[in-house]
Amino acid sequence: MPQYTAWPFAEAAQLAEKVKGRGEGVVVFETGFGPSGLPHIGTFAEVARTTWVRHAFETLAGRPTKLIAFSDDMDGLRKVPLNVPQREMLAEHIGKPLCYIPDPFGCHVSYSGHMNAKLCEFLNTYGFDYHFQSSHEAYVRGDFNEGLAILLSKVEEVKALILPTLGEEKREDWSPFFPICGSCGRVYTTRVVAYHPQDNTLEYICDTEVYGVKGCGHRARATIFNGKAKVGWKVDWALRWYTYEVAYEMYGKDLIESAKLSSQIVRLMGKEPPIGLIYELFLDKEGRKISKSVGKGLTVDAWTTYAPIESLLYYIFASPRKAKRLYWEIVPRCVDEYLDELRKYPTPSEEERVNLPVWHIHDRGRTVPAYGSKVNYSTVDNLLSALASDSADLVMEYLEQYDPKVREYSAVVRDIVEKVLNYYRDFVLPTKVYKKPDERERAMLLALRDRLVEFPAKSEEELQAMPFAVAKEFGVPAADFFRLFYEVLFGQDRGPRFGAFTSLVGQGKLASLLAERCA
Ligand SMILES: [Zn+2]
Repeated sequence: MPQYTAWPFAEAAQLAEKVKGRGEGVVVFETGFGPSGLPHIGTFAEVARTTWVRHAFETLAGRPTKLIAFSDDMDGLRKVPLNVPQREMLAEHIGKPLCYIPDPFGCHVSYSGHMNAKLCEFLNTYGFDYHFQSSHEAYVRGDFNEGLAILLSKVEEVKALILPTLGEEKREDWSPFFPICGSCGRVYTTRVVAYHPQDNTLEYICDTEVYGVKGCGHRARATIFNGKAKVGWKVDWALRWYTYEVAYEMYGKDLIESAKLSSQIVRLMGKEPPIGLIYELFLDKEGRKISKSVGKGLTVDAWTTYAPIESLLYYIFASPRKAKRLYWEIVPRCVDEYLDELRKYPTPSEEERVNLPVWHIHDRGRTVPAYGSKVNYSTVDNLLSALASDSADLVMEYLEQYDPKVREYSAVVRDIVEKVLNYYRDFVLPTKVYKKPDERERAMLLALRDRLVEFPAKSEEELQAMPFAVAKEFGVPAADFFRLFYEVLFGQDRGPRFGAFTSLVGQGKLASLLAERCA
């Protein structure tokens, strides 16, 4: 038996303990999505991490599982997001459930219909296995009726749990139920004035002001069933857990208090809350929380322009309980670490492999690509800087000379080359300033060129000795000479190890590059 130590196994073991003795049915996992905006990297990370726990659980417990990707499309529109068209039209629908607002993009039946389609498209692109569930459909179909009836019969107890967490001024009128106004169609503008658990109805008046809109004044008695009313968010979460018997759901640190209350509510309804890890949120370069509406262009799609998706998964896999910064400069390091994991993967025994990130990222080790070349993201990046070329073919030619194994793994290498080219064009090139050497500097660089031409080196060490010899000859500190070399050749003040880089491009090519830059 392998030792299962990777974090998805730790989660899975807890889950196995939890569901023990509760029949042999399908174990349900859930992830939540708010369709007021487009799916972002946090959504991706949550689905990926949940999938890893799910696979770990199947491996440990050998039981069938299902992942529900739940979209809260009955939620009301609070404010118009900045990055959508037809903002004036949308402003008229503030307070209405997202599923009853027209699609500002004009291609789906509703605002949330559009966002839901994007979510599915997004999850499909990355091959996730999930069952999509719209909240609206679930309400209308009656999935929640049984739970809603329980909540109505225990409405005072639910209020007793929630009211202490609310501000004084909100307590008086607060209700777990939000009927959809039969006249204006808004959801949070309604205020419940009487509960009738005997026939599962309530009386409400639509007269509350929320998000800058006022209720229409409509008064009615209506059923709580089949989507005529929804419950507020923390109660809604509990209702889903109750209805679908969710056994596992992870959530971000920002939802700790909500989850506590939802857990109390689901217990009050007569079932146990799911378990799940609490993950840290992503931060931007400066250490600020990445906001959904702002983002900084660092989307999953954009990541795949510059790096293989597996490198992002690799980054997401490590320590989910630690805050991670997400910005473009981390891309090369992520890819290099991921490639290193691929190279190391064949060495350990099959039993040890189950704890390696790559095993989890590549479907329980089923799709791990073989990679044995020494080419890294940074190798290609350095090569592009020196060659100042954006031809993938030329780069491949150099890489094949540098490492004969490149031919064997050319699909992986080629993909990396294409992505580094994109990264190089968008992030590296705009910051480059190639130094023009003065007379004396030129003499030093040409002395280096002469050595490259005259002495064919037998090893990287012999190559590495060359710039030191030139620095000594001219009486300058080696560090200064290296800096000059990088500024002239790479347009930056640091660079790869000289010996390794020279064996990558070849002595002859480096000599002619030096001559070119000194002309
Ligand atoms: Zn109304």
